[in-house]
Amino acid sequence: MTLADISEHCHNITNSYLAVTNGSELVESTQEAIRLTRYHLLEEVFSRWDPFGNQLSFSYNGGKDCQVLLILYLSCLWEFFITKTRNSQYDSQYHQFPLQFLPTVYINQAETFNTLEQSIESARERYFLSIYESPRNQTSMPEAFENYLKVHSTAKAIVIGIRYTDPFGADLCCIQETDSGWPQFMRVQPLLHWTLANVWSILLYSNEEICGLYEKGFTSIGGINSTVPNPALKIRNDDATSCGKRNPFEWEISNAYGKETPCNKVKVSKLTDADEVLLQSTGQLDFHPGWFLINDSLERAGRIRR
Ligand code: ATP
Repeated sequence: MTLADISEHCHNITNSYLAVTNGSELVESTQEAIRLTRYHLLEEVFSRWDPFGNQLSFSYNGGKDCQVLLILYLSCLWEFFITKTRNSQYDSQYHQFPLQFLPTVYINQAETFNTLEQSIESARERYFLSIYESPRNQTSMPEAFENYLKVHSTAKAIVIGIRYTDPFGADLCCIQETDSGWPQFMRVQPLLHWTLANVWSILLYSNEEICGLYEKGFTSIGGINSTVPNPALKIRNDDATSCGKRNPFEWEISNAYGKETPCNKVKVSKLTDADEVLLQSTGQLDFHPGWFLINDSLERAGRIRR
């Protein structure tokens, strides 16, 4: 497997999702969301900064939003490559995918769940990420990015998986400069228009492994001391009789990309023993999976202040 192979795989996932015609409004709105993100990346971003020339970096923290964006980004990278190949006077066999690893930045700010760290490690291998990891707790976010840019001086723009519904997301636009107090680079935010339900729909359909904490009721993952499973997903005693919460993504899970026979298993990373003990000792088990929640306004209800 190479970065080219996984990019082609992500391209196939995306195309397969775009070809779905199951009559679901959610799938249709996610297809629209994908088309707009692809337009941003292929027409506005890759025409401005060469994705094969180390001018673009990807910000990744193991969360669901950046994983969805990574799948779409790699899919566009593949499309960009094959379009260039097709337009070239030389036969496709003479073209080599020009990148072996994707320049990626991970700011390791707070103490994180081991399960998330392991998930980032798996992503590093699966998606051929060349991750710059800032030293934990040594710097603020702007300083960490400043240090990143010192090491990666060719980087002009950083791709970020923020959405309008995230804190401070409402007034952003797809391509913009950093705010004052930050080192100067362009922020590329092609996922702004996505809803929580859009994110889960393609992510669960992709059949890519996701961080195991999501299966335990987490809906947005911050530091270990500031994140709990989402209280809105707590399994209540009357759930058994009232059928409880319904999984809104049954179709995506059973028809996930590459599944030979429909089954309702989601590929999640294993919880580490330490996180298992932590959740048990603090009574944080018995939650519906994170993807049972599609209300954007409750997405961060498990992010707490201590
Ligand atoms: P979730 O909300 O489920 O944890 P997420 O982490 O992808 O998913 P946010 O926490 O809303 O989403 O963060 C938005 C985006 O900002 C991420 O997708 C990522 O691109 C970027 N980002 C956030 N924190 C970091 C970090 N510590 N290092 C690098 N990038 C980050």
